[in-house]
Amino acid sequence: MTCIFCKIIDGSIPSKKIFENDELIAFHDIHPIDKVHFLITPKKHIENLIACSEGDKETLSNMLLLAPQLAKELGLKGFRTMINSGVEGGQEVFHMHFHVYGGSSKLAKI
Ligand code: 5GP
Ligand code: ZN
Repeated sequence: MTCIFCKIIDGSIPSKKIFENDELIAFHDIHPIDKVHFLITPKKHIENLIACSEGDKETLSNMLLLAPQLAKELGLKGFRTMINSGVEGGQEVFHMHFHVYGGSSKLAKI
């Protein structure tokens, strides 16, 4: 098994874990781009959004709903979410994850 996030999920690579249940795990990004930057990922290995189908609906909505809950717990009043999908979408780790970050007010407007 070579997937780095699967290794984080099974505990063979350490991480700063924020949340875990049967379906999802969230942990701090190793290279934060803001004061707070964490990742939400399903425990099931799904490559990215491109690989998702109808059967992943519930997981996807649970991931989205977890973002504001954890952001609030970490003291954020607002946050940005980013989902990179595929090489052309800037994805580097091919185990789907939602980036959630914030804490500064100098984010570029897009
Ligand atoms: P992507 O470009 O695939 O959307 O983002 C991958 C993210 O995973 C990057 O922000 C990178 O810093 C983070 N990352 C890569 N390897 C590790 C790791 O071993 N531990 C943690 N906590 N984050 C990682
Ligand atoms: Zn994986």
